[in-house]
Amino acid sequence: MMVIISITFLIIAAFAGHSLAGKAMIPIKQAFSRQREFVADASHELRTPLSILQTSVEVVQTDNDQKLSAFSIQVLDDMKSEIRRMTRLVTDLLTLARADAGATNIIKEKFDLAATAEPLIRSVQPLAMVKEIHLEMSGDETIPIMADREKISQLLLILVDNAIKYTPKGGRVEVSLTRTVTPKTMVTIAVHDTGEGISENERKLIFERFYRVNKVRSREEGGTGLGLSIAKWIVDAHGGKIKVENTPGIGSSFIIHLPL
Ligand code: ADP
Repeated sequence: MMVIISITFLIIAAFAGHSLAGKAMIPIKQAFSRQREFVADASHELRTPLSILQTSVEVVQTDNDQKLSAFSIQVLDDMKSEIRRMTRLVTDLLTLARADAGATNIIKEKFDLAATAEPLIRSVQPLAMVKEIHLEMSGDETIPIMADREKISQLLLILVDNAIKYTPKGGRVEVSLTRTVTPKTMVTIAVHDTGEGISENERKLIFERFYRVNKVRSREEGGTGLGLSIAKWIVDAHGGKIKVENTPGIGSSFIIHLPL
């Protein structure tokens, strides 16, 4: 219960820009900095009880394997999926709070983007297969790039995961990675899907924190409403650009240009 109350408070604070300035008349900059510290500390602290809860539910499930009623099995499964959702939310909040506080460094290294992307795409194949979605990667075979490998992997996963989430059964998702030399040397990452698409009005808003075109749909898919905010932060931190092109009813294409 405490976890749920704390998370609710955390979300309200992050969403509504809860300010500490009013009470103590402290400078706004300082108040925001304290607020960010608070969100980062709280997110960090919340991860431990959540992981204990997750393990506890699993222990109850295993220990009572044969004895549980169908109803109890269902309740425990629901608990597990809610704990997973909360953990994702807390992790995403922590990422953004650290980014806001300037506490996350971009550590650039030279690596091959195509070679890094391949196992990542393989790891999400099972998700695509469940929905009978054809997931494929195309483009240049080697793309040497100077960037933060971990963050670029996170960016790819967010976009591919979204493409699978918002594409109906039997659709297609294509990840294309290309290197262009003119007018400037850069890398283009494009994730195309045959999903529901996003209307022009919504396209400006989806990169905002907690903005979801369809809250119920996002919840059902286990979304937190923070994935694209994190994606945009990663792209900005690399001096790149992210845009979405699509036709509602036909699909979306998320396109990223990264300077080399
Ligand atoms: P969520 O966790 O809800 O997926 P995101 O920040 O990743 O949050 O995305 C914000 C919203 O943008 C989603 O809730 C969804 O409405 C929309 N969206 C993101 N990716 C796609 C896509 N490939 N196709 C259609 N809608 C999308």
